[in-house]
This record gives sequence, structure tokens and C-alpha cells, in this order.
Amino acid sequence: MSRIVQKYGGTSVADTARFMKVARRVKNYHDQGHEVVVVVSAMGGVTDHLIRLANEVGGDSNDREMDMLLATGEQQSVALLAMALHGLGCPAISLTGAQAGIETDGVHCKARIRNITPERIENYLNDGSVVIVAGFQGSTQDNVITTLGRGGSDLTAVALAAVLHADLCQIYTDVEGVYTADPRIVPEARKISVISHDEMLELASLGTKVMQSRSVEFAKKFGVQLEVRSSLSDRDGTIITEETAAMEEVVIRGVSYDRNEAKLTLHNVADEPGRAACLFGILAAASINVDMIIQNASEEGRADISCTVPQGELKIIRRQLAARIVEEVGCDEIAYDEDVAKVSLVGIGMRSHSGVAAEMFAALAGEGINIQMISTSEIKISCVIAESAVELAVRTLHRAFKLEQEPGNGA
Ligand code: ASP
Ligand code: MG
Repeated sequence: MSRIVQKYGGTSVADTARFMKVARRVKNYHDQGHEVVVVVSAMGGVTDHLIRLANEVGGDSNDREMDMLLATGEQQSVALLAMALHGLGCPAISLTGAQAGIETDGVHCKARIRNITPERIENYLNDGSVVIVAGFQGSTQDNVITTLGRGGSDLTAVALAAVLHADLCQIYTDVEGVYTADPRIVPEARKISVISHDEMLELASLGTKVMQSRSVEFAKKFGVQLEVRSSLSDRDGTIITEETAAMEEVVIRGVSYDRNEAKLTLHNVADEPGRAACLFGILAAASINVDMIIQNASEEGRADISCTVPQGELKIIRRQLAARIVEEVGCDEIAYDEDVAKVSLVGIGMRSHSGVAAEMFAALAGEGINIQMISTSEIKISCVIAESAVELAVRTLHRAFKLEQEPGNGA
């Protein structure tokens, strides 16, 4: 017998037929003698619909009421799933986040979990019941309902798995796992069988949208083993787990891309102490998320500084900050380029293998793809390129590093 937390996302409970499918799967695990805690998202599209309604009554800026409203989506789902399980003769009980003991801080719409009191869940499990918990929500010490940010049901599941010492946390979604690249772009992309938390974290933050990256971080911190798998098939998914020595044998785990990049360049900045601090100070004060940065020193004591930011934030810079930046940093007009994308290679094996960057740049050059910016970490190399070349770049790198081939040692 093991203890399993299963999370079903919005597409897995998009309609009542899917609820029945989920219920049959949950019952199956329960019949095998496992203790099952299920976390459910709102039915697909419901959260977006609620946000639209709030907009229509002009209430979307009232964070407290937004949380009150959005939490209802998940509450519908837990009750429906409990009913479906009862219909199959399986004992089940639904709980809101607050009833499940999930206490958060009071930052509405992006609350952080402070503490979980799992006694109630434990008691129901001891009684032999499936426990169904509303994802994405909690409440403050004063019983004010909060939500954890979009995609937050993943976090509910991982956090519950941690406090309940679950053997496994399964994330059910509409894809069969984590792939070596986006299968829509690379048809020969392969489902990865095992991946480390760190690799998943890089992939998640680099634009591979399978899981919310905050939840992967949490899973790493608390040593929660995850499995990402499909609610529409019975095939094994991808296991995300603590790193083992064998994993380093595989140099590259996957290639990801992010089209949501934009670049700005400041020409003719005085090459003297304090200019970069001034620029990035202004951006930081506006909570702009800067990703890559490069500075080229030129001859006459002037330099160019470029950096990338998410596309939406470039618009804020253009509209609200440009004049101030030009004046305070002391540079020429700012140049903007929204038609850039980032392509990245990820693998913990990079730590112990050399020559990966050279091979990556050569492969891109072989297709005539120009690299505009480069950044690296211990387990990742990213290049900013023209957005029009992104699909070619992903395919090229996937082929160059032979990612379609199963790694030999099963790692
Ligand atoms: N229903 C919420 C959302 O759409 C939470 C989740 O699905 O994880 O973001
Ligand atoms: Mg989701």
C-alpha cells in the first residue's frame, strides 16, 4: 500500500464524462489498497470565465473578492468528483482548501502557503475514504479565502504530498509527460522517462509549460517525487525526482524555447561606474523581470547595453520608463526588438561534459541562424535568436544532440 496524491488539471475535468473517467481511475487506485488524496482544478475554462465576469462588473481590481470568486471554480470540481465516486460505490469526501488545513499569507491572488494542518485529511484517510481537496486555494489565519496564483493547483498537490509524506505525487494533464522538445515542433521528440528536479525547473522556467515552476521548486525543496502523466491514457508518464549519479551520463535532457522574449538596447552609454546600476535600478523598481544582459564596450568610452525582458514588460518600458531611462542613464534612443526568442539546452550532464556550447553554436551556424545573446548556467545554455528561426533552431538542436535516441543506461 502506498500513499498517493493525484492532481487533475482543468482539461482532465473539462466535462462530466471526464469527471467519470477521473473517478474510475481514482477508484482503481483505491481498490488496490492505496491511500488516495485527489487535488482538482476548476473545470477547463471556468477560471478564465470567472475572470471575464469580474471584468464585466468592474470588480477585477478587488483582490479579496477575486479570490472569493475564483475559489468557487475548484469548489465545484471537488463536489462533482466526490459525487461521481459515490456513484461508483467508492467512499470519498470533498474539502475546500481551508477545510483541508491549508493556511496562507494574506497576499490575495498570489498567496503563499504558510502552514498545513493535515489532521483532518489523515483522519478521513484512516477511515478508508478518498479525500478530494480543492486546488489553488487556502485561507488566512482569519479565515479569509485566498488563491495561490494561476496554475496553483500544482502547488496544492505538491505541498500536500510533502506534509502527508506521500510516496508519489501524480500530476495528471493533457500530455503524456515531459518531452525532449515540444512535439508540435519536433515530431520525433521523445517522452523523457526520468528527469531531475533541477532539469525540470530549468525546462519549466524556460518555457516548457507542463508544470508551474513554483511547484517544481517546492517539490525539490521537500524531496517530493512527481510523475507527470496523461488523464486520457494509461501509459506511464515522466518521473521527476531527486538527482542520481547515473543521470549525469546524459548530457542534454531536452531543448526548450520561449517566444515571449523581447530585447532592448541602449546605445552610447557612458562606459563608467554606475550606468548599469542606474538602468537596472529603474527596471527593478518597476518590477521588470530582466533575463539576459550583455554589454559591449566601444572605443570612445561609450558602450551598448542590451537586455531581454518578457514581451508584456517591454510595452511597459516603452510607454512608461523610456524617457526616464534615456535621461538618467544618459544614452541615445532605446532600440526595441520584439521579434526575438530564446532557445535553450538543459541537462545536468553539462556539468561534467565539455564542448556542449561549441556544438550548440556550430549546429545553429550550420543552419545560418545568428546568435544575438548567450547565457549559461551550470546545467543550461540559452541563445537569443530571431523569432522566425525558433522552430528551425529547436529541430536542429534536437537532431544535433540525438535527443530522439533513448539514453543507454535508462537514466
Ligand atoms: N484554476 C486555476 C487556474 O486556472 C488553478 C489551476 O488550474 O491550477 O489557474
Ligand atoms: Mg495547470
